[in-house]
Amino acid sequence: MATDLRLPTDRIVRPDKDRFLNEVNPFEAMMSRFDRAAELLDLEPGLYRILRHAEKQIIVSVPVAMDNGEIEVYTGYRVLHNTSRGPGKGGIRFDLQVTLDEVKALAAWMTWKCAVVNIPFGGAKGGVVCDPLRLSVGELERLTRRYTAGIISTLGPDSDVPAPDVNTNERVMAWVMDTYSMHKGHTVTAVVTGKPVEMGGSLGRREATGRGCMIVMRQALKHLGMPMRGATVAVQGFGNVGSVAAQLLYREGCKITAIGDRSGAIHNEAGIDVDAAIEHAQKHRSLDGFNTGERISNEELLTADVDVLLPAALENVITTKNAGQIRARIICEGANGPTTAAADAILDEKGIFVIPDILANAGGVTVSYFEWVQDRGGYFWTEDSVNDRLLQIMERSFIDVLELSKRHKVNMRTATYMLAISRVATVHRLRGIYA
Ligand code: GLU
Repeated sequence: MATDLRLPTDRIVRPDKDRFLNEVNPFEAMMSRFDRAAELLDLEPGLYRILRHAEKQIIVSVPVAMDNGEIEVYTGYRVLHNTSRGPGKGGIRFDLQVTLDEVKALAAWMTWKCAVVNIPFGGAKGGVVCDPLRLSVGELERLTRRYTAGIISTLGPDSDVPAPDVNTNERVMAWVMDTYSMHKGHTVTAVVTGKPVEMGGSLGRREATGRGCMIVMRQALKHLGMPMRGATVAVQGFGNVGSVAAQLLYREGCKITAIGDRSGAIHNEAGIDVDAAIEHAQKHRSLDGFNTGERISNEELLTADVDVLLPAALENVITTKNAGQIRARIICEGANGPTTAAADAILDEKGIFVIPDILANAGGVTVSYFEWVQDRGGYFWTEDSVNDRLLQIMERSFIDVLELSKRHKVNMRTATYMLAISRVATVHRLRGIYA
């Protein structure tokens, strides 16, 4: 029988939803969306309290012997937000912007994301405060291994499974897997996802987040009666998510009229040759010097006159400062948290159709799930099979959210949170509280 977590005299005390003390704090951004959905779901106060808190937060000092003989000490985090539906799942990022609040928000977003696409994982996230572009390969490896050793008590295929995120990749995952396996005394492939294919990675994983963005964008265009062929797209961020999404959209007949990364942006009304841009970015590690259109600022890219805007880099690029100027009809959030909670209302007022991050970029973790399943089964699928299953999950999830948004007359973001929270809440009610 399900446990009733509602106490008759209990009342939910929520922070004032209309005040944004710090617009760019990602944890507050996550909580204000969570609050709205929880209220609409009439979530029990006990469950509300549980879900507001992360289950576990680890902070580690990471000493690294640098190439010049000095020792630097970095700070690393790993947060497990909720593991009621399965092992904690979520990436590790290496970035100077990493803070505990950011990692907490990102871990909670993983809980909701896994629930939206209905895969049996909870939410986790990790990060190390560093600038990986300034580290040599050797320094990066030592940093990764020491950080992994620091958080090893939480890691495991049944407890906490990392993956790539901002500034981490297959190679970093190989080091995490090797460090964990050395401690265990045997090879454990399923402890991380996003590994090289040669050592238990999944075909299609690297492209999965971008592919998922393309799939939900296609659904959104269809829903709004806009043709895919010729649809104009601006892509902010040209890493693993932005570049792959741009390439797949280009193949589907979209016209990519603006792209940008930390070096600036390019606009070309005739359409940018995405394959050439990717080649340039791979060779030079940035789009700097790729001048096949007019140079524009990142701010101009975000407000470009396009059908679809795809923010695919970091948090807080769409804020109260620029939301009013955005001209796109659709925003597909490839990044986590690109829009501040305060900006949501402005986008709503303008009638912009937002495919929220926890739906739009869920393709990555979905194929991470496939990788974990393949590792545990020791049986590997073809790329077509991976892509077919991803297509089914992304299309079904988009439809689930769209139907909920129509039924409750709420925007896609609120509907996505409602779907996710209700799935997590159901499991909590069934499991009850261990005492
Ligand atoms: N870092 C990706 C995300 O934010 C993937 C996480 C994973 O595959 O576990 O969704």
